[in-house]
Amino acid sequence: MAIIDLRSDTVTRPTLAMREAMAGAEVGDDVFGEDPSIRRLEEETAALFGHESALFAPSGTMTNQIAIKAHTQPGDEMICEETCHVYTWEAGGPAVLSGVTCRTIPGDRGVIEPGQLLDKIRPINDHFTRTRLVALENTHNRGGGRVYPLDYIKAIREWTRTNSLILHCDGARIWNAMIATGTSAAEYGAQFDSLSVCFSKGLGAPVGSAIVGSRDFIKRCRKVRKLFGGGMRQAGFLAAAALHGLRHHVDRLAEDHAHAQVLAKTLRQLPGVRLDPDSVETNLIWFRLDPTVGSANQLVAHLKERGILVHQSGPELMRVCTHLDVSAKQIDQACSVFEELLGSRASRNTIL
Ligand SMILES: *Cc1c(COP(=O)(O)O)cnc(C)c1O
Repeated sequence: MAIIDLRSDTVTRPTLAMREAMAGAEVGDDVFGEDPSIRRLEEETAALFGHESALFAPSGTMTNQIAIKAHTQPGDEMICEETCHVYTWEAGGPAVLSGVTCRTIPGDRGVIEPGQLLDKIRPINDHFTRTRLVALENTHNRGGGRVYPLDYIKAIREWTRTNSLILHCDGARIWNAMIATGTSAAEYGAQFDSLSVCFSKGLGAPVGSAIVGSRDFIKRCRKVRKLFGGGMRQAGFLAAAALHGLRHHVDRLAEDHAHAQVLAKTLRQLPGVRLDPDSVETNLIWFRLDPTVGSANQLVAHLKERGILVHQSGPELMRVCTHLDVSAKQIDQACSVFEELLGSRASRNTIL
């Protein structure tokens, strides 16, 4: 039985063309700045977002945490949404690695409204930390893959500029936001001092993320990358995969979004499934199962028996994610299995 793995867009394996690009990559020692494939990837990524410079690193957690460290001093404060990745899903990185406290703000499906920020800057006073940095996540994972509205980003940008704060974007899925809205990388890039972007999710590369920003900032990031143990040697093989993803796998994200709509349409018609019809904007579908129908545990187990893997996050909450390695036919198969398990009352009662 072929497994249909809908747990995450990190599960993709390199395509044949990507493997060929990797095999043929020119490489050198990147700690010496001598890997031509990495330099090419960094230059193309920086240019795409309209920034001066970029830095390749092994993971999105590392690029976010490098950026936070390079932007701050110990004792500074970062403002972010309470369920965001940099605060919630990176093992306390800001505190552990940078000595930075986080002021978290409840968002609407991951999105902070500009007005919520207005009174959040600490006065300059011996009692307080220095408010230094604001981090936004686009698209927002726990927010259901929600796209950060561009007018909100622009208003927050204006406010950070006026108040000499730094604005960072966790853009692990910025590509999905670009495709969902038609907003260009350059337009998003212009709103932020730095962005972290990921090649190993939607773009299908095996490893890697980049930070983009000014030349001076990226120079500081390079040193922090070394400090964090992220300086790699002949990693051009990985950069070649990332570059292949960047050149060939951005536009196709529209397919993943269409697949997510097909799945969402099926799921929301099923009894016991709680899914906000408007919440699916990109490739992520977060939904809840009414406990009277069964537990997420049970549903996940039954799906697994039928070759469908989904991500479980709590007793009722699950996530389904579309990506490069799931075909339209497999999406239809997955829909049939969901219908079989949850569709009619009779089968539902016997199965869950
Ligand atoms: C996946 C992800 C990251 C980075 O994750 P790594 O696994 O460390 O590459 C950062 N931010 C968001 C929103 C993510 O979903």
